[in-house]
Amino acid sequence: MKRALVCGAGGFIGGHLVKKLKREGYWVRGVDIKPHEFSPSQADEFMLRDLRDPDHCRSALALSNGGFDEVYQLAADMGGMGFISVSDCEVLHNSALINIHMTHTAAEMGVARYFFSSSVCVYRDMRSEEAPITEDDGIPANPDNEYGWEKLYAERVATAYGRRYPMQVRIARFENCYGPEGTWTGGREKAPAALCRKIAEAEEGGTVEVWGDGTAIRVFTYVDDLVDGIVALMHSNLDGPANLGSEERVTVADLVRTAIEVSGKRITVRYVPGPVGVRARNFSKARIASLGWKPAVSLQEGIARTYPWIEAQVGAARRVK
Ligand code: NAD
Repeated sequence: MKRALVCGAGGFIGGHLVKKLKREGYWVRGVDIKPHEFSPSQADEFMLRDLRDPDHCRSALALSNGGFDEVYQLAADMGGMGFISVSDCEVLHNSALINIHMTHTAAEMGVARYFFSSSVCVYRDMRSEEAPITEDDGIPANPDNEYGWEKLYAERVATAYGRRYPMQVRIARFENCYGPEGTWTGGREKAPAALCRKIAEAEEGGTVEVWGDGTAIRVFTYVDDLVDGIVALMHSNLDGPANLGSEERVTVADLVRTAIEVSGKRITVRYVPGPVGVRARNFSKARIASLGWKPAVSLQEGIARTYPWIEAQVGAARRVK
């Protein structure tokens, strides 16, 4: 039985990845600085560790009989634009320490395969009509936020260790990911969850405020598709980063419209100033597609699965108050 360590297993994507690896018959250890917020982890073992500390990395990686076959590094100090835009120092400090120590310790302890979760935030801002750019176009780099710079640095750390040690390194640059059991309130939530929450909280006929003017272009990837892509990439021979996300490019206004339709409510949208991020994104998915991976869940279907979960969280939070 293969053994996998999922770092960040108490988080959104890490939690879903643990479930996927369990379905595939792995023995899984999850590690995180906090337990999973929304459901008990399905990992065979769950450790609370602060991966900024090299001793905690070592204990997370230690097994009495041999080592881990696969390590999936998804732990990061992260959130949506509302968090990233005001947390430069935390992101650069905490996530860099996690990646420096996890990569080094995994390589020293003989891990065979190491996955690093990067982001399309490594790319520069784009014009809406620009042709898709490839992974190689990440350099020369000009990310619009420190989160992207930290990801680029961590990619280089992982790549350097992959060159020096017999550790196969796989890197995915995720597009925006959404789905049930992700952060939906508190300031770290990302756009799809924040919008679903605002709509769920609104009265019938009410108004929701949305940051920006709705014209920013994004790709939103349903979490089941993303974790399928992570595992496909991990088991491939694809060296170097691969963009991982849906092919469906939409505006923020499209996302809002979809969520309102799914809610079945009559809602007015008011666009207000706020941290929006880049204007547009358009990346080639040829590398990941070469593995036979393609997303199965449309934005409409993904929001139809996500909105009821967030609506239920909103309802439960109201009952507690
Ligand atoms: P998340 O915040 O839900 O999960 C990250 C987890 O890391 C959290 O559970 C957090 O507690 C844990 N963590 C933070 N500091 C830690 C520490 N010092 N020690 C141990 N654990 C620690 O985020 P997510 O959406 O699941 O993202 C997972 C990964 O994917 C991250 O690396 C993120 O940057 C990357 N990513 C996510 C998206 C997205 O849309 N969600 C997009 C691009 C990249």
